[in-house]
Parts: sequence; C-alpha cells; structure tokens
Amino acid sequence: MTDANLQEENADLRRRLEEAEEAIRAIRSGAVDAFVAAEAHGNRVYTLESADRPYRLLVEQMQQGAITLNADGAIAYCNRRFADLLGRPHERLTGVAFRDFIPPDEQALYESLLQQGRAGAGQGEAHLQKADGGLIPVFLTFNALPPDSGVAVGGLVTDLTTQRHHEKLNAALEALKESDRRKNEFLAILAHELRNPLAPIRNALHIMRLTGANGEAVSSETEMMERQVGQMVRLVDDLLDVSRISRGKIELRKDRVELASAVNHAVEAARTLVQCMEHDLTVTLPPLPIYLNADPTRLAQVLGNLLSNACKFTDKGGRISLTVEREGKQAVIQVRDNGIGIAADQLPRIFDMFMQVDTSLERSVSGLGIGLTLAKNLVEMHDGTLEVHSAGAGQGSEFVVRLPIMVETPKPPPEPTVTEPTTTTARRILVVDDNRVSADSLARLLHLTGNETHAAYDGLEAVEAATTFRPDVVLLDIGLPKLNGYDVARKIREQPWGKNIVMVALTGWGQVEDRQKSREAGFNGHMVKPIDHAELMKLLASLSSEQGGQLTKP
Ligand code: ADP
Repeated sequence: MTDANLQEENADLRRRLEEAEEAIRAIRSGAVDAFVAAEAHGNRVYTLESADRPYRLLVEQMQQGAITLNADGAIAYCNRRFADLLGRPHERLTGVAFRDFIPPDEQALYESLLQQGRAGAGQGEAHLQKADGGLIPVFLTFNALPPDSGVAVGGLVTDLTTQRHHEKLNAALEALKESDRRKNEFLAILAHELRNPLAPIRNALHIMRLTGANGEAVSSETEMMERQVGQMVRLVDDLLDVSRISRGKIELRKDRVELASAVNHAVEAARTLVQCMEHDLTVTLPPLPIYLNADPTRLAQVLGNLLSNACKFTDKGGRISLTVEREGKQAVIQVRDNGIGIAADQLPRIFDMFMQVDTSLERSVSGLGIGLTLAKNLVEMHDGTLEVHSAGAGQGSEFVVRLPIMVETPKPPPEPTVTEPTTTTARRILVVDDNRVSADSLARLLHLTGNETHAAYDGLEAVEAATTFRPDVVLLDIGLPKLNGYDVARKIREQPWGKNIVMVALTGWGQVEDRQKSREAGFNGHMVKPIDHAELMKLLASLSSEQGGQLTKP
C-alpha cells in the first residue's frame, strides 16, 4: 500500500470517527430522536425512546405528582398522579399556570417557594385546590433545571392527606387517653364522695340504736342524716345531669324569670358555705329588674355552682362579689373572688368534664369536677356564654355569664294561686317497690304521717294487694319483677274499683317521654326517686283536690 493510499484511508477513518462523535454528542443532548443504520438487508431505524423509557415509566408511575414548569410558571409537563390528585383531566393541564391550583391565601407562600426553586431549591407545605373545590394538603419541592433543558423548574408534589389523617387519629387517641385517665380519676373521686356521707349516717344509726328511738340525740342525728342524704342526692343529681347533657337529653323548663330572684336563690343556697368560710360576699343588682326567658332552677344551679366554687377555691375570710349588669340586649353576671386563681395553661381546660386543677386538694373542699361543665352547657342551652378570667395562680378568678335579655312583653296576669291544704288527709296507700327496704321505709313513713299503708314487692303481688286492700293511692315503681309498673297500672285501671285510684309512678327516669309513657298507662302523677316526702304530700294533695276530694276518707 502506497503512502498516498494510507493517508487517504487515515483521513477517511478520522472523518468517520468525527461523525460518530458528533452523533453521540447529538444523542446525548437530546437533539436526535432516532437514527438510521445501513445494514446488509437495507436501512433500519432505531428510535431513541427506548433509551429514556425506564425514566419516563418511573415518573409516570410514581406515587408523587411530578411537574415541570416553564419560566412563566405554566405547566410544561405533569404525570398522571398529579392530574389524579387534582381530579382534573391530564391532557388539559399542560399550559395552565400552577398558581391557579393554589388557594388565594397561599399564593404568596407559593410564589416564594417557586422563587427559591428557581434559585436552586425550595420546599414547603401548601394546599392544592381540587376540581370540586376541596383542598388537599401537599408537600411541594421545586428544583431549578439546567438552562438548556427548555423548562425552568421541576417539581414534586406529595399528598399529605393520609399523613394528616394519621396525625388527627393520633391526636384523637391522645385525647381519648386523657379523657380515660380523667374518667378513672373521676370514678375514684366519685366513690370517695359517695362514701363520705355514708359513714356519718351509719354512725348516727348506731347512736340512735344506743340511745333508743327518741330524745334530743335522735333529732340532731336525723337532721345530720338528712343533710348527708341531701348531699348524696345532689351528687347523684349532678351525675345524672351530666349524663343527660352528654346524651343531649336535658330539658329546660323555660319561663319568664326575674334574674334577681334566681340570684337570690343561688346566694341563699351558698349562704352556709359563705358563712362557714367567713367570706365577705357582696351582691350588686341593677336598679331595674331584668327578665330572662330561662329555666329558673337551672339558672340558680349555674350561679350557685359559680358561687360555691368561689367559696371553695378562696382561703378563709376572702372577698367574693356577684354583680349583675345590663349590657345592651344582654344580662352580664360576674362572679369574682380573690382566691387561689387559675394558671394560664389551665384556663382553656377548665370547663372540661372531670377537670380539676389540683386533684390533691382536700376532697371536702373540692367536688367531682363536673360543676363547670354542667354550668357551661346549661348557659349555652340558654343561648348564653360562660367565660373564665384569671391573672394566674393566687390572683383570684372571675367567671362571666352572659344571657340574652327577654324581649319585654306586657306582664301576664298572675296565675291563680293554689292554696295548699295545711292538714294532711288520711289515705289508704299501697307502696310497690321491688327494693324491699325502699318500699317498707316509705310505707312506714306514710304510716307515721297518719295514713294506712301496705307494701308489695312485685307486679303480681301489687295487683293482688290492690284488689284486697283497695287503696286510695298507689305509689308504684316501674321496673318490677313478674309484671312491670305500666302493666300493673293498666290492670288496676281496668277494674271497676280502679278508676278513681290515684296512681303515682316512682321511677329513676324523669324525662318527658317517661312521663308520657306513665300517663298513657293510666298514672296520674310521676315522681323521680329518691322521693322528697314534702313533694309527695303536695302532689297527693293537688291530685286529690283535682279528683274533687274523692280520696278523702271521713
Ligand atoms: P369541682 O368544683 O367539683 O372540682 P368544677 O367543675 O366546678 O368542679 O371546677 C373544676 C375545677 O376548676 C376545680 O376543681 C378548680 O380546680 C377550678 N376552679 C373552679 N372555680 C374556681 C375558682 N373560683 N377559683 C379557682 N379555681 C377554680
């Protein structure tokens, strides 16, 4: 081979090498989509899609939204996951400004993330607006792309919905644990509180047995027993109220109430505690009466609770004030004390059920931790608000009740007053209760107050006793063995002698539907246990006067 030939071949090889290098450069920079190779049987086309196919598949199928944005923030490319997140058709997203999917109050945040992305990297939490208007919490990551890539920024969009859901579940779980802890603590306190009054009652009974059933000792012991029983009844009433409120079953008996009278009742009820603690209580009422459309008992209960708390959580000899003012269409009642106060971190939880700031407090000072829960619920049921203020521990506390003032209407004519009979009339009374102790003690009590009594302990026995004893009045428990109280009442009413008998249901249930049920079964009255003796006498007197005095025995 001549030199000339060699040189020519060399030049040819160099040219082909340069061509190959040029082709590789073009492929690398993306300028070539396919190349054609001359093969033995003709030309063959190789498309370069297969080269980046694995990456495309990865981006298309990943669980995150992926996007590229042009310099003006318009979407140049997005994967299907991104379109699915937004609930919009994939093919309609190209060219749309990304900011169109950002809610108005997060626009500034988005712009700053994008800005950081353009400059290198930006990331943060935001929300995307779905086609149906819903918001999805997302984590956005923006990264600058090389200038020769044709797009400005690449972005990843991570859906945080599941994470948020888990966070909520965890928070709910924590709240449940906390409320379970408070419930357990509450049960311990409750057991303690219910046991407290029982010990002195047992002692008193012992004293009565030792001293014989008469004399001064007995009278003072019975007074004490009444007080203790009263305290237990109050505790149980509070418990019932709380459970009714949490089941939405509490009912208000609203009426036109003068606020001052509810205040006076509450002050009266708290007087013993105020005196016992040697507090100085001042009550300031407005010059003109304020009328509310409220349940007077519940209103007094709320104010009484705030007053007794003020007494309990203020050291002996403290200052307590209750002021009532009119503020526009609202009555504002403030109960202030200069007592132990409430730390700022406890204030938000103070109205929670079973919440007590200091559970180590002497129990006789504290209660069950449900008073404020009840008070707040009752105030809100009157369309009012209850707030607490305290500058901190040792700084005293202030509770503010706001209630809507009743739109003034002319005063209705006074109700005709029912004159209560002053003398009790002797009656034949059948007492039915499967709790023998309850039945026997009530029968004994009624006997002592001049009635002829008989006790029965189940439904069938009650019907039998009614047939032979022919009572004027039947005091009938509802939950009875063999035949329930409703059926007993119906059976008695079916008898010719049973038409005029006064029947009073004695039950643990006092809701409207319970009263309705007992009325339908033929009862004339409905009382909730434990029965207050004076109330029962009043009811019997009013029922017998309704029946034209037919009950009265000569
Ligand atoms: P209770 O009085 O039975 O403990 P409450 O629901 O009435 O329950 O009150 C809850 C808690 O709020 C109390 O245990 C006490 O820690 C705090 N508290 C209520 N009233 C006052 C007050 N006037 N001053 C300081 N702390 C109070």
